[in-house]
Amino acid sequence: MRRGRVSPASRLSLRARLALVAAGAVAATVVGASAVVYLAVRHDLLLGVDSGLQSRATVLESRRSRHGTADVVRQLLRHAPGLAALPTATQVTEADGAVLALPPFQPPLPVTARVRAVAAGRRPAFVESATVDGTAVRLLTVPFGRGLALEVVRPVSGVESELAHLATILAVTSLAGVAIAVVLGAAVAGVALRPVRRLTRTVERMAATRDFGPPLLVSGGDELARLATSFNAVVAALDQSRSAQRQLVADASHELRTPLTSLRTNVEVLAGDERLDPAERLQLVHDLGAQLDGLAVLVADLVELARHEDGGPAPGPRELVALDRLVATAVERTQRDHPGVRFTSRLEPLLVEGVRADLARAVANLLDNAAKWSPPGAEVTVTIEGAVLRVRDRGPGIDPADLPRVFDRFYRGRSARGVGGSGLGLAIVRRVVEGHGGAVSAAPAAGGGTELVVRLPRASDSGAAS
Ligand code: ATP
Ligand code: MG
Repeated sequence: MRRGRVSPASRLSLRARLALVAAGAVAATVVGASAVVYLAVRHDLLLGVDSGLQSRATVLESRRSRHGTADVVRQLLRHAPGLAALPTATQVTEADGAVLALPPFQPPLPVTARVRAVAAGRRPAFVESATVDGTAVRLLTVPFGRGLALEVVRPVSGVESELAHLATILAVTSLAGVAIAVVLGAAVAGVALRPVRRLTRTVERMAATRDFGPPLLVSGGDELARLATSFNAVVAALDQSRSAQRQLVADASHELRTPLTSLRTNVEVLAGDERLDPAERLQLVHDLGAQLDGLAVLVADLVELARHEDGGPAPGPRELVALDRLVATAVERTQRDHPGVRFTSRLEPLLVEGVRADLARAVANLLDNAAKWSPPGAEVTVTIEGAVLRVRDRGPGIDPADLPRVFDRFYRGRSARGVGGSGLGLAIVRRVVEGHGGAVSAAPAAGGGTELVVRLPRASDSGAAS
């Protein structure tokens, strides 16, 4: 049987796991949203810096177009207020990389291949992030008349400090969100799992006390209700099988007591009374042998019944069985054991699927009864027609008062007094037949005697039978 395995993750309680999953989901959402906000704000701030650079470049360009390049360069070198004013720094570069105008008090701006390409007119204007003199800046490079490029930079330290502030706020909010999610997740999981806890407590109590008590209350039709319904069904089946087992043990001990007592009495007589003559002694030993045989049969029958007490499908290998051949063999054997009775049979072929040994035992029990209750020389008729087996004898018949109970364990009818047996034969027949999905009944036969009728489902498969 396969059993559920306990994975390492389930060392945590279900409630803790649910809370963790909720917190994880909230954390992923919050972190994702924070990242989007951070990137969007950063983009907006940089756009502001870039448009500042652009307007400065536009001012210089319009001045250049009105007064000429030389005028602008002069102004820049003189560090004219309003043109090279901080925090913006400016530089005019030639296509060969030479710096034409670098205002005083200002670190030189980087002259890359891209900048030279703009000066040479091979590239359009561009903006990039760069580092000048250890400071992070945005750098705009635009064409500045023939053979020149104008570079304008502005530090982004303001933007960076704003972004750092934003990041702090987002981190704190995210942590708070996750913490709230853990607490709320635990609370919600607690409420959702309350019925599970109730179910668990009840089942644990059952396991500890071995007392099934009343069935679990089932309300609604959700998964838990289905679980409780199935659990109740399992418990009911277990309870039934347990009481059937108890009943069998009680019946068995009661039935074994009588033969054991008489065995003991006979043994005591044999051992204690020395005045017994040899003939009496021989008779006693003979009786003892017969009693032991009876006891052996009784124990074998009991074991057979106990083997499958809960009435489910018969154990043992199931196979296709030609019931007609099985019955024919059984008739021959019973005829040998009871030469005083005449068996006649008419057997149509019938294939059933089942446990051969069990079917043979059931058929033998029916034939044995018919022979046992037949008067000497009487006929027993065995027929298979369709999927129905009938065993009919010409004995005294079963008393109508006994009829409803002859299939019970240990039940022996009034006619059975003085005839050997323990009352288990028909109980075994019923167990086997029902275990094969069939039904058995007994009825008075027309014209006297008894008829036992067994119906078995035909095998659906028409494969080979042995
Ligand atoms: P066992 O089969 O265990 O040796 P048994 O034959 O007495 O004992 P069952 O086969 O279970 O027990 O039968 C139960 C009772 O039904 C019998 O004691 C008998 O009273 C009655 N009975 C069964 N078959 C017949 C029959 N063919 N004719 C008359 N009575 C029968
Ligand atoms: Mg019998």
